[in-house]
Amino acid sequence: MQPIPRIAEFHAEMTEWRRDFHAHPEIGFEEVRTSGIVAEKLESWGIEVERGLGRTGVVGVIRGRRPGNRTIGLRADMDALPMPELNEFAHRSTIPNRMHACGHDGHTTMLLGAARYLAETRNFSGTVHLIFQPAEEGLTGAAEMLRDGLFEKYPCDQVYGIHNAYDLPLGTAAIRPGTVLAAVDYFDLTLTGRSCHAAQPHRGLDPLPCAVQIYTALQNLVSRRMDPHETVVLSIGQFQAGTSQIVIPETVLMRGTIRTLKPTTRRAMDELFHQTVQGIAAAHGVEVSLDYRRSYPPTINTVEEASAFEAAAREVVGDELIMTNLPSLTAGEDFAYYLEKAPGAFMLLGQMTPEHGNVPVHHGRYDFNDALLPIGASCFARLVEQQLGHG
Ligand SMILES: [Zn+2]
Ligand SMILES: [Zn+2]
Repeated sequence: MQPIPRIAEFHAEMTEWRRDFHAHPEIGFEEVRTSGIVAEKLESWGIEVERGLGRTGVVGVIRGRRPGNRTIGLRADMDALPMPELNEFAHRSTIPNRMHACGHDGHTTMLLGAARYLAETRNFSGTVHLIFQPAEEGLTGAAEMLRDGLFEKYPCDQVYGIHNAYDLPLGTAAIRPGTVLAAVDYFDLTLTGRSCHAAQPHRGLDPLPCAVQIYTALQNLVSRRMDPHETVVLSIGQFQAGTSQIVIPETVLMRGTIRTLKPTTRRAMDELFHQTVQGIAAAHGVEVSLDYRRSYPPTINTVEEASAFEAAAREVVGDELIMTNLPSLTAGEDFAYYLEKAPGAFMLLGQMTPEHGNVPVHHGRYDFNDALLPIGASCFARLVEQQLGHG
């Protein structure tokens, strides 16, 4: 492992920043303290800063020592999750029901580390745009920054992002072209019948048998209607009805998510979902209220940029830790919105060590591994020097 020596020099400081962010988590579009600290640090290193893009987002601009027209966007997400932290170490969350359980505290710090180094050295030609975005966790902060004119004000010929991977060994850089993360869609389905005494179900209209048939039929869509070679996940995380064992409920609520890797499977699931729900509900005479929302697009790395990021990572982590065959994940990322507008690549960086363990993200005992800070920062910095090295 060969992090850039200058970046390794401020590893201890980066660890302090990261732990401070960890102790003060803020959820999507509430990242006021976090983005304030980010902006102040960037300014203290002589970097031009715009605050408040995409509500709580921050953009920094670093110009190379040599003139050049090319531009690179480097992105970090800053938001935490609305969940309690179960860790007991000194830097645990100080705010109830708020936790950095996805490592965005680490992502923010890695990009700060790269920014500090690049601002000191400016050993490139062209411009680096540092994108510190809010609200990655389900709130489409990336789309909000783009709506606010991110790429018009700060054009990016290429855009790059990193996410930690809790279950890959420390420094493993998983990077390849193509679809790396799934499209994410959500649904809220309410079925309404007519409540009545449980002893006289014929006097009302029980929505539960309808809901159960819909549940089963939706799972059958995946196993019977979709090509077995295509990745499709349909999960229902909420299924709620009733208040008593002797009352037929009026409504059933089902909420869930659908993950696909291709536009064709995404469209097919959308259509089949609507057909199935409407058809079964009609057969039962139950009323349907359905909110089906297309959220994050699939995250699709472009060929040249994936290989550029791979080359940069190779210089930092060495040949053995480069992984170019990681299967697509069924998680989603709003980094996908940038990739709809500009070529670029999203890399996963492993953080697992025997001491740190492999607690999954979004778990109350998760923590970003500080050992990854100089590695991630160096990958970003090497990428800039390699891509913008020749003016
Ligand atoms: Zn997350
Ligand atoms: Zn995340």
